[in-house]
Amino acid sequence: MIYADNAATTKMCPAAIQAMTACMEQNYGNPSSLYSFGQQAREALDDARGRIAARLGCTPREITFTSGGSEADNQAIFSAAKLGEKKGKKHIISTAFEHHAVLHTLERLQKQGFEITLLDVHENGIVTAQQVRDAIREDTCLVTIMFANNEIGTIQPIAEIGAVCREKGVLFHTDAVQAIGHVKVNVAEQNIDMLSLSAHKFRGPKGIGVLYAKRGILLDNLINGGAQERGKRAGTENLPAIVGMAAALEQAVASIDEYTARLTPLRDKLIAGLEQIPYSQLNGDRDTRLPGTVNFCFEGIEGEALLLLLDDKGICASSGSACTSGSLDPSHVLLAIGRPHEVAHGSLRLSLGDDVTEADIDYLIQSVSEVVSYLRSISPFWRDLQTGKRPHVFAK
Ligand SMILES: *Cc1c(COP(=O)(O)O)cnc(C)c1O
Repeated sequence: MIYADNAATTKMCPAAIQAMTACMEQNYGNPSSLYSFGQQAREALDDARGRIAARLGCTPREITFTSGGSEADNQAIFSAAKLGEKKGKKHIISTAFEHHAVLHTLERLQKQGFEITLLDVHENGIVTAQQVRDAIREDTCLVTIMFANNEIGTIQPIAEIGAVCREKGVLFHTDAVQAIGHVKVNVAEQNIDMLSLSAHKFRGPKGIGVLYAKRGILLDNLINGGAQERGKRAGTENLPAIVGMAAALEQAVASIDEYTARLTPLRDKLIAGLEQIPYSQLNGDRDTRLPGTVNFCFEGIEGEALLLLLDDKGICASSGSACTSGSLDPSHVLLAIGRPHEVAHGSLRLSLGDDVTEADIDYLIQSVSEVVSYLRSISPFWRDLQTGKRPHVFAK
């Protein structure tokens, strides 16, 4: 099997599994208990928080543990909105191709009277700092822009956007779920006020994440109850997952240069190979992208059929995001970069793992080419394109 869906989730790394197992077996106390066995759990919690903070470039007090990326996005945005509302500022800037954890949260705020500006991300899938500058108003309380897109893998100029926000005195949040452990992130150097991350996207466990909020930003609770996480996120800490996340993050950050050097040429080989398929197109900028993420559109293809036939060949891939597959709507990300509906339906995302080999890349190229040719050979839609009854969207 070739697992090429690492943007959906990753295989846990042995260091994370080992840290979690040891924690579950030996350190199962409640960090809030006063006896020493509980305090041992508290120490492990503090230790993990410190190690995570060091990798992000912030202090431990600026870290809040959440149940994952979605919760961190929700809490960041609702908190900034509440702070803005107090000052009569109810305008938020984001982009059209954010994850639904951001977009649906913004829709909720829109219903509560906030005004939302969604910036265009262009055909290359990149928003510019100038666009952000032009969109900021007197009443803007938040800019939230993802670090790297989960479907097409393009990377945004986060440090520049952060600098504009600092200059204008507007809070800046980034959903860095796809970026952490895959590209270099440092909240201090990149002018980030709030950041969301999720462990299962960098070989840590599922169901655990972090909201970083710069000192002085008052967070609003989504979960009310006990005084855990300095009162900002109630509930007994998921200590095994937290120590697993710390181990996975350390490992990912330590090997990032090696990972990038190894994956980038393999990614580029995959892109070059898939471009040989007639009437295909890479989605998003060729270079400003994650080392492992490749997304293509193929004319005359249904993404779902493509995935099922690739599954028969032992390939795990994705079409659009997991949240949109299962529905018939084409991906909002592909629509945002200007792909027409009929080609947005024929998309394929391959997101490579750090253990991918050159032979795997050859097999991926060959398998996708075969499946695309086969599906086109039985497609009435493709026949119409061939006979000129319908116009092609891409050049051959
Ligand atoms: C996966 C993902 C999320 C959601 O994270 P969960 O931990 O699964 O809730 C949010 N944003 C992006 C960009 C993602 O890729």
